[in-house]
Amino acid sequence: MRKKKRLLWQLFPSYLLITIVSLSAVTWYASNSLRNFFLDQTAADLLVRAHLLEKQIIQFLGPLDANVIDALCKEIGQSSATRITVILPSGIVIGDSNEDPAIMDNHALRPEVIEAKKGNVGRSIRFSTTLQQNMMYVAIPLSDHKRIIAVIRTSLPITAIDKELKSIQSKIALGGLLIALLAAGICLYVSRRISQPIEKVKEGAEFFARGDLSHRLPETDLIEISSLADTMNKMASQLDDRIKTIINQKNELEAVLSGMIEGVIAFDMDERIISINQAAAGIFESIPKDMLNRSIQEVIRNPELQQFVTQALSSTDNLEGDITLYHEGERIIYLHSTPLRDSNSDQIGVLVVMNDVTRVRRLENIRRDFAANVSHEIKTPLTAIKGFVETLRYESVKNPEEIERFHSIIEKHVNRLTAILEDLISLSRIEQYDEKKEIDLEKRGIKEIIQKAIQNCQEKAEKKSINIDLSCDEKISAMIDSTLLEQAIVNLLDNAINYSNKESSIHVSASLKDSEVIISVQDHGIGIAKEHIPRLFERFYRVDKARSRTLGGTGLGLAIVKHIAQAHEGRIHVESTPGKGSTFEIYLPSA
Ligand code: ADP
Repeated sequence: MRKKKRLLWQLFPSYLLITIVSLSAVTWYASNSLRNFFLDQTAADLLVRAHLLEKQIIQFLGPLDANVIDALCKEIGQSSATRITVILPSGIVIGDSNEDPAIMDNHALRPEVIEAKKGNVGRSIRFSTTLQQNMMYVAIPLSDHKRIIAVIRTSLPITAIDKELKSIQSKIALGGLLIALLAAGICLYVSRRISQPIEKVKEGAEFFARGDLSHRLPETDLIEISSLADTMNKMASQLDDRIKTIINQKNELEAVLSGMIEGVIAFDMDERIISINQAAAGIFESIPKDMLNRSIQEVIRNPELQQFVTQALSSTDNLEGDITLYHEGERIIYLHSTPLRDSNSDQIGVLVVMNDVTRVRRLENIRRDFAANVSHEIKTPLTAIKGFVETLRYESVKNPEEIERFHSIIEKHVNRLTAILEDLISLSRIEQYDEKKEIDLEKRGIKEIIQKAIQNCQEKAEKKSINIDLSCDEKISAMIDSTLLEQAIVNLLDNAINYSNKESSIHVSASLKDSEVIISVQDHGIGIAKEHIPRLFERFYRVDKARSRTLGGTGLGLAIVKHIAQAHEGRIHVESTPGKGSTFEIYLPSA
Protein backbone atom coordinates (compact mmCIF):
# COMPACT_ATOMS: atom_id res chain seq x y z
CA MET A 1 0.00 0.00 0.00
CA ARG A 2 1.26 3.47 -0.80
CA LYS A 3 2.29 5.54 2.17
CA LYS A 4 -0.31 8.19 2.94
CA LYS A 5 0.90 11.82 3.19
CA ARG A 6 -0.72 14.94 4.55
CA LEU A 7 -1.82 17.46 1.95
CA LEU A 8 0.84 19.91 3.26
CA TRP A 9 3.60 17.40 2.49
CA GLN A 10 2.16 16.89 -0.98
CA LEU A 11 2.23 20.64 -1.72
CA PHE A 12 5.27 21.90 0.18
CA PRO A 13 8.06 19.94 -1.60
CA SER A 14 6.72 21.02 -5.00
CA TYR A 15 6.56 24.65 -3.84
CA LEU A 16 10.09 24.37 -2.47
CA LEU A 17 11.45 22.70 -5.60
CA ILE A 18 9.95 25.35 -7.84
CA THR A 19 11.39 28.08 -5.59
CA ILE A 20 14.89 26.54 -5.45
CA VAL A 21 15.03 25.84 -9.21
CA SER A 22 13.87 29.34 -10.13
CA LEU A 23 16.15 30.98 -7.57
CA SER A 24 19.15 28.96 -8.77
CA ALA A 25 18.34 29.87 -12.36
CA VAL A 26 18.02 33.55 -11.44
CA THR A 27 21.23 33.44 -9.37
CA TRP A 28 23.15 31.67 -12.10
CA TYR A 29 21.90 34.00 -14.79
CA ALA A 30 22.39 37.16 -12.71
CA SER A 31 25.89 36.31 -11.54
CA ASN A 32 26.93 35.27 -15.05
CA SER A 33 25.60 38.49 -16.52
CA LEU A 34 27.22 40.55 -13.75
CA ARG A 35 30.56 38.81 -14.15
CA ASN A 36 30.48 39.33 -17.91
CA PHE A 37 29.48 42.94 -17.39
CA PHE A 38 32.33 43.56 -14.93
CA LEU A 39 34.82 41.75 -17.15
CA ASP A 40 33.72 43.71 -20.20
CA GLN A 41 34.04 46.92 -18.18
CA THR A 42 37.51 45.95 -16.97
CA ALA A 43 38.53 44.91 -20.46
CA ALA A 44 37.32 48.22 -21.91
CA ASP A 45 39.16 50.07 -19.16
CA LEU A 46 42.37 48.15 -19.78
CA LEU A 47 42.02 48.82 -23.51
CA VAL A 48 41.68 52.57 -22.93
CA ARG A 49 44.74 52.54 -20.68
CA ALA A 50 46.73 50.57 -23.28
CA HIS A 51 45.78 53.07 -25.98
CA LEU A 52 46.78 55.95 -23.71
CA LEU A 53 50.25 54.41 -23.40
CA GLU A 54 50.58 53.79 -27.10
CA LYS A 55 52.10 57.24 -28.01
CA GLN A 56 54.44 57.44 -25.06
CA ILE A 57 55.90 54.00 -25.65
CA ILE A 58 56.16 54.08 -29.44
CA GLN A 59 58.76 56.91 -29.43
CA PHE A 60 61.21 54.73 -27.51
CA LEU A 61 60.87 51.76 -29.80
CA GLY A 62 62.84 53.12 -32.77
CA PRO A 63 65.55 53.01 -31.81
CA LEU A 64 64.69 50.75 -28.94
CA ASP A 65 65.40 52.05 -25.48
CA ALA A 66 64.35 49.27 -23.22
CA ASN A 67 65.46 50.98 -20.04
CA VAL A 68 63.29 54.05 -20.65
CA ILE A 69 60.30 51.88 -21.61
CA ASP A 70 60.73 49.81 -18.45
CA ALA A 71 61.02 52.96 -16.30
CA LEU A 72 57.96 54.43 -18.04
CA CYS A 73 56.01 51.24 -17.39
CA LYS A 74 56.97 51.30 -13.70
CA GLU A 75 56.08 54.98 -13.30
CA ILE A 76 52.70 54.91 -15.12
CA GLY A 77 51.88 51.47 -13.71
CA GLN A 78 52.30 52.70 -10.17
CA SER A 79 50.28 55.88 -10.66
CA SER A 80 47.43 54.10 -12.47
CA ALA A 81 47.47 50.91 -10.30
CA THR A 82 47.65 48.91 -13.51
CA ARG A 83 50.23 46.38 -14.50
CA ILE A 84 51.78 47.40 -17.77
CA THR A 85 53.98 45.13 -19.81
CA VAL A 86 55.68 45.88 -23.15
CA ILE A 87 56.62 42.84 -25.19
CA LEU A 88 58.55 42.56 -28.40
CA PRO A 89 57.07 40.39 -31.20
CA SER A 90 59.75 37.82 -30.33
CA GLY A 91 58.13 37.50 -26.90
CA ILE A 92 60.93 39.22 -25.02
CA VAL A 93 59.60 41.50 -22.29
CA ILE A 94 61.25 44.90 -22.48
CA GLY A 95 59.27 46.72 -19.80
CA ASP A 96 57.05 45.70 -16.89
CA SER A 97 55.57 47.83 -14.16
CA ASN A 98 55.83 45.13 -11.53
CA GLU A 99 58.90 43.02 -12.38
CA ASP A 100 62.33 43.19 -13.75
CA PRO A 101 61.96 42.29 -17.46
CA ALA A 102 65.32 40.55 -17.42
CA ILE A 103 64.02 37.76 -15.23
CA MET A 104 60.67 37.40 -16.91
CA ASP A 105 59.77 34.49 -19.26
CA ASN A 106 59.34 34.81 -22.95
CA HIS A 107 55.74 35.98 -23.46
CA ALA A 108 55.35 34.97 -27.13
CA LEU A 109 52.93 32.19 -26.32
CA ARG A 110 50.62 34.14 -24.04
CA PRO A 111 47.14 33.97 -25.69
CA GLU A 112 46.58 37.76 -25.56
CA VAL A 113 50.03 38.38 -27.09
CA ILE A 114 49.39 35.86 -29.89
CA GLU A 115 46.08 37.63 -30.65
CA ALA A 116 47.69 41.12 -30.56
CA LYS A 117 50.44 39.96 -32.89
CA LYS A 118 47.71 39.13 -35.41
CA GLY A 119 46.75 42.80 -35.28
CA ASN A 120 43.71 42.35 -33.02
CA VAL A 121 42.99 43.24 -29.42
CA GLY A 122 44.04 40.26 -27.32
CA ARG A 123 42.18 39.42 -24.16
CA SER A 124 42.76 36.70 -21.62
CA ILE A 125 41.95 35.82 -18.00
CA ARG A 126 44.45 33.65 -16.17
CA PHE A 127 46.24 33.00 -12.98
CA SER A 128 49.39 34.97 -12.90
CA THR A 129 52.30 33.06 -11.47
CA THR A 130 54.18 36.35 -11.23
CA LEU A 131 51.53 38.09 -9.10
CA GLN A 132 49.94 34.94 -7.68
CA GLN A 133 46.38 35.98 -8.49
CA ASN A 134 43.69 35.88 -11.20
CA MET A 135 44.33 38.58 -13.74
CA MET A 136 42.72 40.04 -16.85
CA TYR A 137 45.09 40.83 -19.63
CA VAL A 138 44.37 43.09 -22.60
CA ALA A 139 47.02 43.41 -25.30
CA ILE A 140 47.16 45.76 -28.32
CA PRO A 141 49.65 45.76 -31.13
CA LEU A 142 52.01 48.74 -31.76
CA SER A 143 52.93 49.09 -35.42
CA ASP A 144 55.02 51.48 -37.53
CA HIS A 145 52.62 51.36 -40.44
CA LYS A 146 54.28 48.29 -41.92
CA ARG A 147 54.72 45.81 -39.22
CA ILE A 148 54.03 45.16 -35.58
CA ILE A 149 56.97 46.29 -33.55
CA ALA A 150 55.71 45.59 -30.03
CA VAL A 151 52.71 44.66 -27.94
CA ILE A 152 51.43 46.73 -25.01
CA ARG A 153 49.70 44.68 -22.42
CA THR A 154 47.70 46.12 -19.54
CA SER A 155 46.32 43.93 -16.81
CA LEU A 156 44.35 44.11 -13.62
CA PRO A 157 43.58 41.56 -10.93
CA ILE A 158 39.95 40.33 -11.10
CA THR A 159 39.84 38.90 -7.54
CA ALA A 160 37.72 41.92 -6.54
CA ILE A 161 35.13 41.04 -9.15
CA ASP A 162 34.93 37.45 -7.89
CA LYS A 163 34.65 38.70 -4.33
CA GLU A 164 31.86 41.07 -5.32
CA LEU A 165 30.12 38.30 -7.22
CA LYS A 166 30.38 35.93 -4.20
CA SER A 167 28.80 38.57 -1.95
CA ILE A 168 25.97 39.08 -4.47
CA GLN A 169 25.48 35.32 -4.72
CA SER A 170 25.28 34.90 -0.91
CA LYS A 171 22.77 37.77 -0.74
CA ILE A 172 20.68 36.03 -3.41
CA ALA A 173 20.97 32.72 -1.44
CA LEU A 174 19.80 34.50 1.73
CA GLY A 175 16.95 36.06 -0.23
CA GLY A 176 16.17 32.60 -1.61
CA LEU A 177 16.04 31.16 1.90
CA LEU A 178 13.65 33.90 2.98
CA ILE A 179 11.51 33.26 -0.09
CA ALA A 180 11.55 29.49 0.69
CA LEU A 181 10.32 30.26 4.21
CA LEU A 182 7.69 32.55 2.81
CA ALA A 183 6.74 29.83 0.33
CA ALA A 184 6.41 27.37 3.21
CA GLY A 185 4.13 29.80 5.03
CA ILE A 186 2.02 30.38 1.93
CA CYS A 187 2.00 26.66 1.25
CA LEU A 188 0.81 26.00 4.81
CA TYR A 189 -1.90 28.60 4.44
CA VAL A 190 -3.04 27.29 1.04
CA SER A 191 -2.99 23.65 2.11
CA ARG A 192 -4.93 24.60 5.27
CA ARG A 193 -7.49 26.39 3.15
CA ILE A 194 -7.83 23.31 0.96
CA SER A 195 -7.54 20.71 3.68
CA GLN A 196 -9.92 22.31 6.19
CA PRO A 197 -13.03 21.90 4.04
CA ILE A 198 -11.83 18.42 3.09
CA GLU A 199 -11.42 17.68 6.80
CA LYS A 200 -15.01 18.87 7.38
CA VAL A 201 -16.26 16.66 4.54
CA LYS A 202 -14.33 13.77 6.09
CA GLU A 203 -15.87 14.43 9.54
CA GLY A 204 -19.32 14.55 7.94
CA ALA A 205 -18.64 11.33 6.06
CA GLU A 206 -17.73 9.76 9.40
CA PHE A 207 -21.20 10.75 10.71
CA PHE A 208 -22.70 9.00 7.68
CA ALA A 209 -20.51 5.97 8.30
CA ARG A 210 -21.78 5.84 11.90
CA GLY A 211 -25.32 5.78 10.54
CA ASP A 212 -26.30 9.40 11.30
CA LEU A 213 -27.66 10.22 7.89
CA SER A 214 -29.53 13.30 9.13
CA HIS A 215 -26.19 15.14 9.46
CA ARG A 216 -25.45 17.66 6.67
CA LEU A 217 -22.01 18.74 5.42
CA PRO A 218 -21.38 22.52 5.63
CA GLU A 219 -21.07 24.81 2.61
CA THR A 220 -17.52 25.87 1.66
CA ASP A 221 -16.20 28.55 -0.69
CA LEU A 222 -14.20 26.02 -2.75
CA ILE A 223 -16.39 25.07 -5.69
CA GLU A 224 -15.06 21.52 -6.08
CA ILE A 225 -15.33 20.67 -2.38
CA SER A 226 -18.67 22.42 -2.10
CA SER A 227 -20.09 20.35 -4.94
CA LEU A 228 -18.60 17.20 -3.37
CA ALA A 229 -20.33 18.10 -0.08
CA ASP A 230 -23.53 18.77 -1.98
CA THR A 231 -23.40 15.42 -3.72
CA MET A 232 -22.65 13.65 -0.45
CA ASN A 233 -25.54 15.47 1.28
CA LYS A 234 -27.88 14.38 -1.52
CA MET A 235 -26.56 10.84 -1.31
CA ALA A 236 -27.07 10.80 2.50
CA SER A 237 -30.61 12.12 2.19
CA GLN A 238 -31.52 9.53 -0.46
CA LEU A 239 -29.87 6.81 1.59
CA ASP A 240 -31.75 8.03 4.66
CA ASP A 241 -35.06 7.85 2.79
CA ARG A 242 -34.30 4.40 1.47
CA ILE A 243 -33.17 3.11 4.86
CA LYS A 244 -36.30 4.56 6.48
CA THR A 245 -38.46 2.83 3.88
CA ILE A 246 -36.61 -0.44 4.41
CA ILE A 247 -36.89 -0.09 8.21
CA ASN A 248 -40.62 0.62 7.90
CA GLN A 249 -41.09 -2.38 5.68
CA LYS A 250 -38.99 -4.47 8.05
CA ASN A 251 -41.01 -3.24 11.06
CA GLU A 252 -44.25 -4.02 9.28
CA LEU A 253 -42.97 -7.46 8.43
CA GLU A 254 -41.74 -7.99 11.98
CA ALA A 255 -45.09 -6.82 13.38
CA VAL A 256 -46.84 -9.29 11.10
CA LEU A 257 -44.43 -12.06 12.02
CA SER A 258 -44.54 -11.39 15.75
CA GLY A 259 -48.33 -11.12 15.64
CA MET A 260 -48.56 -14.56 14.10
CA ILE A 261 -49.50 -17.50 16.30
CA GLU A 262 -47.60 -19.71 13.89
CA GLY A 263 -43.86 -19.96 14.40
CA VAL A 264 -41.86 -18.77 11.38
CA ILE A 265 -38.15 -19.48 10.86
CA ALA A 266 -36.10 -18.67 7.77
CA PHE A 267 -32.89 -20.67 7.22
CA ASP A 268 -30.11 -19.91 4.76
CA MET A 269 -28.42 -22.63 2.70
CA ASP A 270 -25.97 -23.28 5.58
CA GLU A 271 -28.89 -24.04 7.91
CA ARG A 272 -28.31 -20.76 9.73
CA ILE A 273 -31.32 -18.93 11.17
CA ILE A 274 -31.72 -15.65 9.28
CA SER A 275 -35.10 -14.70 10.67
CA ILE A 276 -37.27 -16.02 13.48
CA ASN A 277 -40.45 -14.74 15.07
CA GLN A 278 -41.50 -14.69 18.72
CA ALA A 279 -43.82 -17.67 18.36
CA ALA A 280 -41.11 -19.88 16.82
CA ALA A 281 -38.55 -18.93 19.48
CA GLY A 282 -41.24 -19.55 22.13
CA ILE A 283 -41.71 -23.12 20.89
CA PHE A 284 -38.04 -23.74 21.74
CA GLU A 285 -38.26 -21.79 25.02
CA SER A 286 -35.94 -19.07 23.76
CA ILE A 287 -36.07 -15.54 22.40
CA PRO A 288 -35.44 -14.57 18.75
CA LYS A 289 -32.32 -12.50 19.60
CA ASP A 290 -30.51 -15.54 21.05
CA MET A 291 -31.24 -17.73 18.04
CA LEU A 292 -30.60 -15.31 15.19
CA ASN A 293 -27.58 -15.93 12.92
CA ARG A 294 -26.79 -19.22 14.61
CA SER A 295 -26.95 -22.64 13.07
CA ILE A 296 -29.87 -24.95 13.76
CA GLN A 297 -27.49 -27.53 15.29
CA GLU A 298 -26.36 -24.94 17.80
CA VAL A 299 -29.73 -23.69 19.03
CA ILE A 300 -32.37 -26.32 18.27
CA ARG A 301 -31.34 -29.70 19.54
CA ASN A 302 -34.08 -31.62 17.81
CA PRO A 303 -32.88 -34.25 15.29
CA GLU A 304 -36.34 -34.44 13.67
CA LEU A 305 -36.42 -30.71 12.92
CA GLN A 306 -32.76 -30.71 11.81
CA GLN A 307 -33.53 -33.54 9.39
CA PHE A 308 -36.65 -31.75 8.14
CA VAL A 309 -34.67 -28.54 7.42
CA THR A 310 -31.90 -30.49 5.63
CA GLN A 311 -34.51 -32.21 3.47
CA ALA A 312 -36.36 -28.96 2.81
CA LEU A 313 -33.11 -27.25 1.72
CA SER A 314 -32.33 -30.00 -0.76
CA SER A 315 -35.85 -30.06 -2.16
CA THR A 316 -37.50 -27.64 -4.56
CA ASP A 317 -41.00 -28.58 -3.35
CA ASN A 318 -42.93 -27.58 -0.27
CA LEU A 319 -42.61 -30.19 2.47
CA GLU A 320 -44.79 -30.88 5.49
CA GLY A 321 -44.66 -33.12 8.50
CA ASP A 322 -45.11 -33.45 12.25
CA ILE A 323 -42.33 -33.46 14.83
CA THR A 324 -42.57 -34.17 18.54
CA LEU A 325 -40.92 -31.98 21.16
CA TYR A 326 -40.34 -33.31 24.65
CA HIS A 327 -40.13 -30.27 26.84
CA GLU A 328 -42.42 -30.05 29.83
CA GLY A 329 -44.61 -32.73 28.31
CA GLU A 330 -45.03 -33.90 24.79
CA ARG A 331 -45.85 -31.36 22.09
CA ILE A 332 -46.64 -32.06 18.48
CA ILE A 333 -45.52 -29.40 15.98
CA TYR A 334 -46.75 -29.37 12.40
CA LEU A 335 -44.08 -28.10 9.96
CA HIS A 336 -44.55 -26.66 6.49
CA SER A 337 -41.56 -25.58 4.40
CA THR A 338 -41.36 -23.31 1.35
CA PRO A 339 -38.10 -22.63 -0.55
CA LEU A 340 -36.80 -19.04 -0.31
CA ARG A 341 -35.63 -17.60 -3.61
CA ASP A 342 -33.76 -14.42 -4.58
CA SER A 343 -34.61 -12.12 -7.49
CA ASN A 344 -32.88 -14.53 -9.91
CA SER A 345 -35.08 -17.38 -8.63
CA ASP A 346 -32.02 -19.09 -7.11
CA GLN A 347 -32.75 -20.85 -3.84
CA ILE A 348 -31.22 -18.96 -0.93
CA GLY A 349 -32.81 -20.87 1.92
CA VAL A 350 -36.04 -22.21 3.24
CA LEU A 351 -38.96 -20.83 5.24
CA VAL A 352 -40.44 -23.13 7.84
CA VAL A 353 -43.85 -22.36 9.35
CA MET A 354 -44.62 -24.20 12.58
CA ASN A 355 -47.96 -24.85 14.23
CA ASP A 356 -48.43 -26.32 17.67
CA VAL A 357 -51.02 -28.98 16.86
CA THR A 358 -50.75 -30.80 20.18
CA ARG A 359 -54.35 -29.95 21.10
CA VAL A 360 -55.68 -30.71 17.64
CA ARG A 361 -53.86 -34.04 17.46
CA ARG A 362 -54.93 -34.87 21.02
CA LEU A 363 -58.53 -34.06 20.16
CA GLU A 364 -58.22 -36.14 17.01
CA ASN A 365 -56.92 -39.01 19.14
CA ILE A 366 -59.65 -38.50 21.73
CA ARG A 367 -62.28 -38.52 18.98
CA ARG A 368 -60.76 -41.63 17.44
CA ASP A 369 -60.50 -43.37 20.83
CA PHE A 370 -63.98 -42.16 21.72
CA ALA A 371 -65.50 -43.65 18.56
CA ALA A 372 -63.64 -46.91 19.22
CA ASN A 373 -64.68 -46.89 22.89
CA VAL A 374 -68.33 -46.13 22.17
CA SER A 375 -68.49 -48.94 19.61
CA HIS A 376 -66.80 -51.29 22.02
CA GLU A 377 -68.99 -50.27 25.01
CA ILE A 378 -72.16 -50.69 22.97
CA LYS A 379 -71.05 -53.82 21.20
CA THR A 380 -70.39 -55.76 24.42
CA PRO A 381 -73.95 -55.58 25.84
CA LEU A 382 -75.46 -55.95 22.35
CA THR A 383 -73.49 -59.15 21.76
CA ALA A 384 -74.60 -60.45 25.12
CA ILE A 385 -78.25 -59.54 24.45
CA LYS A 386 -78.08 -61.15 21.00
CA GLY A 387 -76.55 -64.31 22.48
CA PHE A 388 -79.20 -64.70 25.16
CA VAL A 389 -82.08 -63.87 22.79
CA GLU A 390 -80.83 -66.52 20.35
CA THR A 391 -80.44 -69.06 23.14
CA LEU A 392 -83.98 -68.38 24.28
CA ARG A 393 -85.36 -68.69 20.78
CA TYR A 394 -83.47 -71.61 19.28
CA GLU A 395 -82.49 -73.72 22.20
CA SER A 396 -85.27 -75.27 24.13
CA VAL A 397 -84.75 -73.69 27.49
CA LYS A 398 -87.67 -74.97 29.46
CA ASN A 399 -86.69 -74.29 32.99
CA PRO A 400 -88.70 -71.20 34.07
CA GLU A 401 -85.95 -70.24 36.53
CA GLU A 402 -83.40 -70.38 33.72
CA ILE A 403 -85.67 -68.31 31.49
CA GLU A 404 -86.09 -65.78 34.26
CA ARG A 405 -82.33 -65.63 34.78
CA PHE A 406 -81.76 -65.05 31.05
CA HIS A 407 -84.40 -62.33 31.05
CA SER A 408 -82.81 -60.55 33.93
CA ILE A 409 -79.39 -60.75 32.25
CA ILE A 410 -80.87 -59.28 29.06
CA GLU A 411 -82.58 -56.57 31.13
CA LYS A 412 -79.29 -55.77 32.86
CA HIS A 413 -77.52 -55.31 29.52
CA VAL A 414 -80.38 -53.25 28.13
CA ASN A 415 -80.20 -51.05 31.22
CA ARG A 416 -76.50 -50.75 30.72
CA LEU A 417 -76.99 -49.74 27.11
CA THR A 418 -79.62 -47.24 28.16
CA ALA A 419 -77.30 -45.85 30.83
CA ILE A 420 -74.44 -45.48 28.33
CA LEU A 421 -76.70 -43.77 25.80
CA GLU A 422 -78.20 -41.47 28.45
CA ASP A 423 -74.74 -40.53 29.66
CA LEU A 424 -73.55 -39.95 26.09
CA ILE A 425 -76.58 -37.77 25.37
CA SER A 426 -76.08 -35.69 28.53
CA LEU A 427 -72.36 -35.41 27.81
CA SER A 428 -72.91 -34.12 24.30
CA ARG A 429 -75.63 -31.74 25.55
CA ILE A 430 -73.34 -30.34 28.24
CA GLU A 431 -70.52 -30.05 25.71
CA GLN A 432 -72.77 -28.06 23.43
CA TYR A 433 -73.77 -25.77 26.33
CA ASP A 434 -70.14 -25.33 27.13
CA GLU A 435 -69.06 -24.63 23.54
CA LYS A 436 -71.90 -22.26 22.70
CA LYS A 437 -72.08 -20.72 26.20
CA GLU A 438 -75.82 -21.30 26.09
CA ILE A 439 -76.18 -22.60 29.63
CA ASP A 440 -78.97 -20.96 31.66
CA LEU A 441 -77.45 -19.89 34.95
CA GLU A 442 -79.41 -18.56 37.91
CA LYS A 443 -78.39 -17.61 41.41
CA ARG A 444 -79.31 -20.48 43.69
CA GLY A 445 -78.46 -21.63 47.20
CA ILE A 446 -76.04 -24.57 47.02
CA LYS A 447 -77.33 -26.42 50.07
CA GLU A 448 -80.72 -27.37 48.60
CA ILE A 449 -79.05 -28.77 45.44
CA ILE A 450 -76.72 -30.94 47.49
CA GLN A 451 -79.63 -32.12 49.63
CA LYS A 452 -81.55 -33.18 46.51
CA ALA A 453 -78.52 -35.07 45.20
CA ILE A 454 -78.06 -36.84 48.54
CA GLN A 455 -81.76 -37.77 48.53
CA ASN A 456 -81.28 -39.23 45.07
CA CYS A 457 -78.51 -41.52 46.28
CA GLN A 458 -79.89 -42.26 49.72
CA GLU A 459 -81.48 -45.58 48.83
CA LYS A 460 -78.28 -46.86 47.20
CA ALA A 461 -76.22 -45.70 50.21
CA GLU A 462 -78.57 -47.34 52.67
CA LYS A 463 -78.24 -50.63 50.83
CA LYS A 464 -74.55 -50.54 51.73
CA SER A 465 -75.25 -49.01 55.16
CA ILE A 466 -73.24 -45.97 54.15
CA ASN A 467 -73.93 -42.76 55.99
CA ILE A 468 -73.85 -39.48 54.05
CA ASP A 469 -73.52 -36.31 56.10
CA LEU A 470 -73.61 -32.73 54.91
CA SER A 471 -72.13 -29.49 56.18
CA CYS A 472 -73.07 -26.37 54.25
CA ASP A 473 -73.93 -22.82 55.13
CA GLU A 474 -77.42 -21.81 53.96
CA LYS A 475 -76.06 -18.55 52.60
CA ILE A 476 -73.66 -20.08 50.09
CA SER A 477 -74.97 -19.47 46.62
CA ALA A 478 -73.65 -19.51 43.05
CA MET A 479 -74.75 -18.91 39.49
CA ILE A 480 -75.75 -22.41 38.47
CA ASP A 481 -77.87 -24.64 36.30
CA SER A 482 -79.43 -26.58 39.19
CA THR A 483 -80.27 -29.72 37.17
CA LEU A 484 -76.73 -30.02 35.84
CA LEU A 485 -75.06 -29.32 39.18
CA GLU A 486 -77.32 -31.86 40.89
CA GLN A 487 -76.35 -34.41 38.24
CA ALA A 488 -72.64 -33.70 38.86
CA ILE A 489 -73.03 -34.17 42.64
CA VAL A 490 -75.10 -37.34 42.09
CA ASN A 491 -72.34 -38.74 39.86
CA LEU A 492 -69.70 -38.02 42.54
CA LEU A 493 -71.89 -39.52 45.27
CA ASP A 494 -72.65 -42.54 43.10
CA ASN A 495 -68.93 -43.17 42.65
CA ALA A 496 -68.24 -42.55 46.35
CA ILE A 497 -70.87 -45.20 47.26
CA ASN A 498 -69.67 -47.60 44.54
CA TYR A 499 -66.03 -47.44 45.52
CA SER A 500 -66.56 -47.51 49.34
CA ASN A 501 -66.95 -50.55 51.52
CA LYS A 502 -70.11 -51.26 53.45
CA GLU A 503 -70.80 -49.23 56.60
CA SER A 504 -68.44 -46.55 55.50
CA SER A 505 -69.21 -42.84 55.55
CA ILE A 506 -69.33 -40.06 52.99
CA HIS A 507 -68.92 -36.42 53.87
CA VAL A 508 -70.38 -33.76 51.59
CA SER A 509 -69.64 -30.09 52.21
CA ALA A 510 -69.77 -26.69 50.54
CA SER A 511 -67.60 -23.75 51.52
CA LEU A 512 -66.51 -20.36 50.27
CA LYS A 513 -62.84 -19.60 49.56
CA ASP A 514 -61.30 -16.74 47.57
CA SER A 515 -64.57 -15.92 45.76
CA GLU A 516 -65.05 -19.55 44.82
CA VAL A 517 -67.62 -22.07 46.05
CA ILE A 518 -66.05 -25.45 46.75
CA ILE A 519 -68.36 -28.46 46.78
CA SER A 520 -66.53 -31.44 48.18
CA VAL A 521 -67.48 -35.14 48.24
CA GLN A 522 -65.20 -37.12 50.50
CA ASP A 523 -65.28 -40.89 50.87
CA HIS A 524 -63.25 -43.45 52.81
CA GLY A 525 -63.24 -45.99 50.03
CA ILE A 526 -60.61 -47.76 47.97
CA GLY A 527 -58.92 -44.59 46.70
CA ILE A 528 -57.16 -44.12 43.38
CA ALA A 529 -53.50 -44.73 42.53
CA LYS A 530 -51.58 -41.61 41.52
CA GLU A 531 -50.89 -42.69 37.92
CA HIS A 532 -54.63 -42.84 37.12
CA ILE A 533 -55.46 -39.34 38.36
CA PRO A 534 -54.52 -37.37 35.17
CA ARG A 535 -56.72 -39.58 32.93
CA LEU A 536 -59.62 -40.01 35.37
CA PHE A 537 -61.84 -37.47 33.64
CA GLU A 538 -61.41 -38.93 30.15
CA ARG A 539 -64.46 -40.61 28.65
CA PHE A 540 -64.63 -44.33 29.33
CA TYR A 541 -61.50 -44.26 31.43
CA ARG A 542 -61.78 -46.68 34.30
CA VAL A 543 -59.24 -47.81 36.86
CA ASP A 544 -60.75 -51.26 37.13
CA LYS A 545 -62.93 -52.01 34.11
CA ALA A 546 -64.50 -55.22 35.45
CA ARG A 547 -65.36 -53.67 38.79
CA SER A 548 -66.88 -50.61 37.13
CA ARG A 549 -69.04 -52.78 34.86
CA THR A 550 -70.23 -54.93 37.73
CA LEU A 551 -71.23 -51.79 39.55
CA GLY A 552 -73.14 -50.58 36.49
CA GLY A 553 -70.66 -47.81 35.71
CA THR A 554 -70.45 -46.36 32.22
CA GLY A 555 -67.02 -44.76 32.53
CA LEU A 556 -68.61 -41.42 31.63
CA GLY A 557 -69.60 -40.18 35.10
CA LEU A 558 -66.49 -38.11 35.83
CA ALA A 559 -66.26 -36.79 32.24
CA ILE A 560 -69.81 -35.45 32.75
CA VAL A 561 -68.83 -33.87 36.09
CA LYS A 562 -65.82 -32.18 34.47
CA HIS A 563 -67.88 -30.75 31.63
CA ILE A 564 -70.60 -29.54 34.02
CA ALA A 565 -67.93 -27.73 36.08
CA GLN A 566 -66.45 -26.20 32.91
CA ALA A 567 -69.90 -25.13 31.66
CA HIS A 568 -70.13 -23.14 34.94
CA GLU A 569 -66.66 -21.68 34.29
CA GLY A 570 -65.41 -23.81 37.15
CA ARG A 571 -63.12 -26.79 37.47
CA ILE A 572 -62.77 -30.13 39.20
CA HIS A 573 -60.01 -31.34 41.47
CA VAL A 574 -59.26 -34.69 43.06
CA GLU A 575 -57.11 -35.83 45.97
CA SER A 576 -56.87 -39.53 46.65
CA THR A 577 -54.88 -42.03 48.66
CA PRO A 578 -55.25 -45.70 47.76
CA GLY A 579 -56.83 -47.60 50.67
CA LYS A 580 -57.84 -44.43 52.49
CA GLY A 581 -60.31 -42.69 50.25
CA SER A 582 -60.84 -39.90 47.78
CA THR A 583 -62.03 -36.31 47.83
CA PHE A 584 -63.55 -34.81 44.68
CA GLU A 585 -64.02 -31.03 44.66
CA ILE A 586 -66.04 -28.89 42.27
CA TYR A 587 -64.91 -25.24 42.17
CA LEU A 588 -67.51 -22.72 40.99
CA PRO A 589 -67.34 -18.95 40.81
CA SER A 590 -69.39 -17.57 43.75
CA ALA A 591 -72.42 -15.38 43.05
P1 ADP B 1 -67.62 -45.22 36.33
O1 ADP B 1 -68.92 -45.18 35.68
O2 ADP B 1 -66.79 -46.35 35.99
O3 ADP B 1 -67.68 -44.91 37.78
P2 ADP B 1 -66.49 -42.64 36.24
O4 ADP B 1 -66.12 -41.71 35.11
O5 ADP B 1 -67.49 -42.09 37.16
O6 ADP B 1 -66.83 -43.98 35.65
O7 ADP B 1 -65.18 -42.91 37.05
C1 ADP B 1 -64.06 -43.33 36.36
C2 ADP B 1 -63.21 -44.23 37.20
O8 ADP B 1 -62.68 -43.51 38.29
C3 ADP B 1 -63.96 -45.29 37.83
O9 ADP B 1 -64.03 -46.41 36.99
C4 ADP B 1 -63.17 -45.59 39.05
O10 ADP B 1 -62.14 -46.51 38.76
C5 ADP B 1 -62.57 -44.31 39.43
N1 ADP B 1 -63.32 -43.62 40.54
C6 ADP B 1 -64.22 -42.65 40.40
N2 ADP B 1 -64.66 -42.22 41.61
C7 ADP B 1 -63.99 -42.92 42.53
C8 ADP B 1 -63.97 -42.95 43.96
N3 ADP B 1 -64.74 -42.14 44.67
N4 ADP B 1 -63.12 -43.82 44.56
C9 ADP B 1 -62.34 -44.62 43.85
N5 ADP B 1 -62.32 -44.67 42.50
C10 ADP B 1 -63.11 -43.83 41.84
